[in-house]
Amino acid sequence: MASADIINALPSTCKVKVPSSSSTIEDTISRWSSTALALPYAVVTPASIADIQPTIEFASANKLKIIPAVGGHGSFVPVGPQTIYLDLTASEFKKIVLDEEKEEVTFGGGVLTRDLLEVLGDRGWYTLIPNSNAVGMVGALLGGLSGGMNGIHGLGIDHIRSISLIPFSTPSGVETSIKDGVLTLTPDSTDEEKGIFNVLCGAGHGLGVITSVTLSAFRISSLNLTDNKLWTRRLIFPASQVSAAVSLWKSLLPPPPTLAPTLIFMRAPPTFPVPRAPIIMLGLSYFGPASDAEAVTKKSFEEEYTSQASVAVSAAVEWKDINSASEPLNAHSGFKESYSAFCAEVDTEGVEKAFAAWEAYSDIVGCGRSYTVIGSWNTKQVLANAGEKDEKFFLGRDRGVFVQTTPWYHTPSGKEGADTFGKEFVDCVRGLDRKAGKKDWAFANNIVIGGGLEDVYGEDMLKEIDRVRGVWDKERTGWAPGDGW
Ligand SMILES: Cc1cc2nc3c(=O)[nH]c(=O)nc-3n(C[C@H](O)[C@H](O)[C@H](O)COP(=O)(O)OP(=O)(O)OC[C@H]3O[C@@H](n4cnc5c(N)ncnc54)[C@H](O)[C@@H]3O)c2cc1C
Repeated sequence: MASADIINALPSTCKVKVPSSSSTIEDTISRWSSTALALPYAVVTPASIADIQPTIEFASANKLKIIPAVGGHGSFVPVGPQTIYLDLTASEFKKIVLDEEKEEVTFGGGVLTRDLLEVLGDRGWYTLIPNSNAVGMVGALLGGLSGGMNGIHGLGIDHIRSISLIPFSTPSGVETSIKDGVLTLTPDSTDEEKGIFNVLCGAGHGLGVITSVTLSAFRISSLNLTDNKLWTRRLIFPASQVSAAVSLWKSLLPPPPTLAPTLIFMRAPPTFPVPRAPIIMLGLSYFGPASDAEAVTKKSFEEEYTSQASVAVSAAVEWKDINSASEPLNAHSGFKESYSAFCAEVDTEGVEKAFAAWEAYSDIVGCGRSYTVIGSWNTKQVLANAGEKDEKFFLGRDRGVFVQTTPWYHTPSGKEGADTFGKEFVDCVRGLDRKAGKKDWAFANNIVIGGGLEDVYGEDMLKEIDRVRGVWDKERTGWAPGDGW
């Protein structure tokens, strides 16, 4: 069927954009990374839930794949001539409702982290969010949702109270609780509905179009922040002081649940005394009173470290700005992917080697915006949330160090070099865990185009994901990692 026929087949309330031979990707869709992007079959913007089922039917009848899109930050999502790009930016999918009595928030499938942070923050509440404002909330949850409050509350998927979606197909011979085309699932769902709920918690791509999610919500006042602001501290070290930076960071591990220490490798911005110089930033965020923060991080005030740092400052940040520092990383440009590892323990030597690998890679012409983030948290709550039998699709609850490097390059031909660097980088930091016989685990939210899933899910999980998709997406109208790139 010619692409233009989709316009006639869908309700007139749907906005449908069919690329022409003169269209460019930039005019058609905007995504964080251009890796694996080609012009889609069509971009469909449904105005309401009623527009989604006809789009699924059209896709299924024409052997097309639907990719629901929100933040566009999924660097592992291939888009091409067989893709219906389902843009969930209409106001219908942007609703946010806080229920203070039930201590929960329900938000639409098109909500970004920023939307939720602002709406809840204005009312003195918060929920689990990623560290980037531009990331779609549902997209982050589908892979687990890890963030700065892992230490206090655990993962986002541990706080899902319900998920509503339009599945890509309805199972035959199975009774379902679908109402008006929408299936609402909770941790208490049973049988096949429990099966799909579990998979949605960590391996949720390609099962349907999620129209809303309900998460636990918490009062900001429960954190006892000083002046209701987040205590933060930042130390910036030159490359020559990488050992001091790593040793200070390591001295804070394992952090108390309220502390989130993060190491960042980046090139100095143009405003710095030596623009483009490789730098190491240690960022500390404390979700509690400032006096406790200073006590817990007292090493970061010691002369031994501050004398080696070119910057050492503390600041109180307004709640709505807690993700603002990561804003430059949200830029939609170039080709980028993230290579990741969840580690139980890392050694100083491994991190220093990784730094050297990143420094060499980011020195290549056109790769200077490549960066590395090494987050860390207390694993107690993440482990406790698993309960006796962990039914969620997230391995690595015992790992409190998350290492992620993001090569950022300018042409598709850079992919091979980025793959080589990314692999070398994660190998550097996995040394101690491998010696201790621990399996490699990587993050579902950072799957790499062309990569396998063996570092993300166990064998039994992969079988269950496939089985559940067979039940709820018989025609494979959805796309999930593992379907091919
Ligand atoms: C700069 C940056 C920072 C990040 N920080 C974090 C972080 O702190 N914590 C974390 O956990 N992850 C983080 N991520 C990873 C991020 O969570 C994933 O890339 C996620 O897939 C992005 O979702 P999206 O909506 O922005 O992207 P999209 O590309 O729009 O969607 C990603 C995937 O989710 C699916 N999807 C999205 N919405 C729906 C829906 N309503 N129904 C069905 N399917 C849907 C899409 O079809 C696609 O397969 C970060 C990524 C980047 C690039």
